[in-house]
Amino acid sequence: MPTSSFVPSSTLVMKSHLLNGPNVSFSPSPNSSGSFDEDLPDTIVIHFTAGSSLASSVDVMTNPDSNVSAHFAIGRNGDIVQMLPTNKIAWHAGKSSYKGRTNLNRYSIGIELDNAGQLTQNSRGEFKTWFGKTCHQDDVVEAVHRNQTAKTYWHKFTDEQIARTYALCKALCQRYHIKVIVGHEEIAPVRKIDPGPAFPLDELRARLLNIKIEPARETKISAKSAFNSAEREVVSKKRASVNASTLNVRLGPGTDFEKIQGEVNKGDKLTIIEKQGEWARVSYTATGWVNTRYINEVSEKLPSK
Ligand SMILES: [Zn+2]
Repeated sequence: MPTSSFVPSSTLVMKSHLLNGPNVSFSPSPNSSGSFDEDLPDTIVIHFTAGSSLASSVDVMTNPDSNVSAHFAIGRNGDIVQMLPTNKIAWHAGKSSYKGRTNLNRYSIGIELDNAGQLTQNSRGEFKTWFGKTCHQDDVVEAVHRNQTAKTYWHKFTDEQIARTYALCKALCQRYHIKVIVGHEEIAPVRKIDPGPAFPLDELRARLLNIKIEPARETKISAKSAFNSAEREVVSKKRASVNASTLNVRLGPGTDFEKIQGEVNKGDKLTIIEKQGEWARVSYTATGWVNTRYINEVSEKLPSK
């Protein structure tokens, strides 16, 4: 089987714990406590920076005196800066707990989004960031935080930022066994309010974590969703049968992705969910990626449900 596969330039892929793709750069941070334990990370934690720019937040997270870091920061234009390889523990969660675990840094990849956070409205009706900058009305979201009861004002995330967050999380889900996607506000609810109600956390989580359980969801995406610009080629449901005697199924579209437990055999019937280059993501009893040279597509249509 080939060692490399065609990857459309708009997609993001993890290779050797580093993100590959357009408008991605690496700015190393010394703020790490070493490697994750085996089978980790399995969690993604979403944050906002509460900062004034991507550059200023990256400066802080790469400064050895700050004692904070994250694996990724995403700018308002969609640029992504990686600061630690994703096999190293970053310092983004602080004192935290979730479903019986404490100190979530030991389990999670941290993604920081450049966003000013919660806003206040002054007597002139202007929206102000905590650092005194005026926020344009078009960049303000009024919503109730999941840990609060009243409507308040929040800095909007850009569509580019949301699309790239989705694409990054999807690349991470393809590379690692991600089981949990949470906001900082959910693992440290007394101390933290990020990413807040302006970020579509529930939608991100439902779409990425449900894909494995219910792959058909992916073809029902709303055309208006900001996530769409991150989508790859989604094919209408097609069946295929395996033409190799045994065929490896992998976590992602390439031979450098780990094999999923159990292979498929000659004659087995698969459903194609999406394609990327010469690879197809298929569902059988599980879902995973196979090289399309080893399957024959079947023209018959699935009975509609
Ligand atoms: Zn945070």
